[in-house]
Amino acid sequence: MSEEKFSFQTEAAELLKLMVNSVYSNRDIFLRELISNASDALDKRRIEILKNPELAENTNPEIKITTDPDKKIISISDNGIGMSRDDLVNFLGTIAKSGTKEFLRTLEQAQNSGDKNLIGQFGVGFYSVFMVADKVEVVSRKLGTDLTSEFISDGGSEFTIKTDVEQRSECGTTITLYLRDDSNLKNYADEWVIREIVSKYSDFISWPIIFKDKAINSQKAIWQKPESEVTDEEYNEFYKHVARDWQNPLMHIRINAEGSTNFKGLLFIPSFAPFDLFMNPESGGISLYINRVFIMNDCKYLIPSYMRFIRGVIDSEDLPLNISREILQEEPVIKIIQRSTQRKIFNELKKLLETDREKYIKFWQAFGRVFKEGIIQDNEHAKNILEIALFKTTDNDGWTTIDEYKARMKEARPEIYCLAGSDDVSILKASPKLEPFTNKNLEVLLLTDPVDEVILNQASYSLKNLDYKLVNISRGDVNPITPDEQKDLDEKLKAVEKDFEPLKKFIMGILSDKLEDVKPALNLTNSLSCLRDNNGMSVQMENLFRASGNELPEQKRTLELNVSHPVIKKLMLSAKNNDDEKLKDIAQILYEQALILEGAKLKNPADYVRRVNNLISIAVGE
Ligand code: ADP
Repeated sequence: MSEEKFSFQTEAAELLKLMVNSVYSNRDIFLRELISNASDALDKRRIEILKNPELAENTNPEIKITTDPDKKIISISDNGIGMSRDDLVNFLGTIAKSGTKEFLRTLEQAQNSGDKNLIGQFGVGFYSVFMVADKVEVVSRKLGTDLTSEFISDGGSEFTIKTDVEQRSECGTTITLYLRDDSNLKNYADEWVIREIVSKYSDFISWPIIFKDKAINSQKAIWQKPESEVTDEEYNEFYKHVARDWQNPLMHIRINAEGSTNFKGLLFIPSFAPFDLFMNPESGGISLYINRVFIMNDCKYLIPSYMRFIRGVIDSEDLPLNISREILQEEPVIKIIQRSTQRKIFNELKKLLETDREKYIKFWQAFGRVFKEGIIQDNEHAKNILEIALFKTTDNDGWTTIDEYKARMKEARPEIYCLAGSDDVSILKASPKLEPFTNKNLEVLLLTDPVDEVILNQASYSLKNLDYKLVNISRGDVNPITPDEQKDLDEKLKAVEKDFEPLKKFIMGILSDKLEDVKPALNLTNSLSCLRDNNGMSVQMENLFRASGNELPEQKRTLELNVSHPVIKKLMLSAKNNDDEKLKDIAQILYEQALILEGAKLKNPADYVRRVNNLISIAVGE
């Protein structure tokens, strides 16, 4: 059959609807998207022919724009790699990007709340044509094949694929847009409108964009131009092209390495994290060029994985053009480029932290979580990462660096106290574990990312070259007191030991499956109880671990009870007098309260509520 109908994949149909209803304010960018795709197709053609020279077609690679202003038709043609019938169905009928679903869900919420910025975070590429056209035809022949196919859509839920269409003489793709008859729209078939859009958004495209028989783009590689000749707008548009982002970047970084290895780089830090940043630890965002010729996207060897959010271009003069992907990783030049790029990024981030705190915080909020993975992966640079890492703190509501923390210390000491275990700062701030520290006016860093706990565990034994120690205060053995104070405390604890024993026995009798031990504590102030992680794994970490499918035996913790608190004193007395009935619920509640303060979910909240209600009944005299 020569003509078939298909339905758009659900997510594609949803995005399409958004385009038809034009949620973006700037519709000009549909042309940028089509030219970007055409340019990619030409890059792919070049690389394919390098691998298979017999496929070469004798045509000059170019992108061609033609128009019919009266009929309001515009066509964008390329003689690039082209698409087969199946490609048309798969590439244009579905959206392969991971995170699309999540994006659509967030978008729905954002639209309800009137936040229009969000959509800009997601490139919709080809579908943007439906902002300006009510019918689109895509005719394509894939390089090395002789079947020309056509995709036709009017932006509805179905599209048509034809395979009996006239053969294209050149490989590649022609996209024809039938522009909407809408007086609010610019006439995109108008010569000057096209010239303006191309020079604004696509000037740097390295293939000629032919319009009225002449190239209308300068084709200059932007990273080859001196910094002073490139405007912010040019950087922004180039970024959007390489990163497939619709928003401006947070900053750009130029690299100009000369010496034994010569290369140029133009890197960008995006303003926002993409939706799939955490799902895709293998992806990289740097394109490799050799002597201005595109070689490959997403060259992960150019940058360590914890810098994978960085986008841009590296252009080397020292690699052969026909280098194969397989040996890239082993190539010494690539390793040198990686090291020097990494160094430059550290320096630039440090500079940003020193000169523009607000912008740096934006960077950190978007990418700090990924960046910190480097502390675990890259022992050699852990120190550099920690130097520019930001943390929440008990000292103020903002962010702090480790250096700033050290500067605030009343007396110099190597320990940097840290509390992890919840992604919510307010939960950490309410933790009874802070009490011994706040009592002594000691500042504690509050670490809210799951990776922080791993870092803390690692920091305690393997971080080298640091003149300080990151100390996890969740562990029961971390106590901010002097040896003399410790001696005094030990004596006092010894004194209560005997009176504490019956309560301890009682609680262990009912909670021995959850608790390792019950201990008296004298360094808590307001809290009655506090849970200690014996192996440094918090309740949050334990839950995360299980949620990701790992098996883990129940982690037993130590329950500390504040023996200077009148309530605990009374309970000790009750236990001594065998007043078990009264104690039963209370002991459970003490444990459950400590869990709640950890930010944990109770396994059986109904039981907890019943126990508290029993106490309420007693309190109100029922
Ligand atoms: P993206 O370019 O971000 O992947 P698009 O929706 O713009 O998303 O395009 C989807 C896919 O369709 C592209 O990845 C590419 O494989 C294919 N495609 C689009 N335009 C062309 C073209 N002119 N030539 C060849 N393939 C194309």
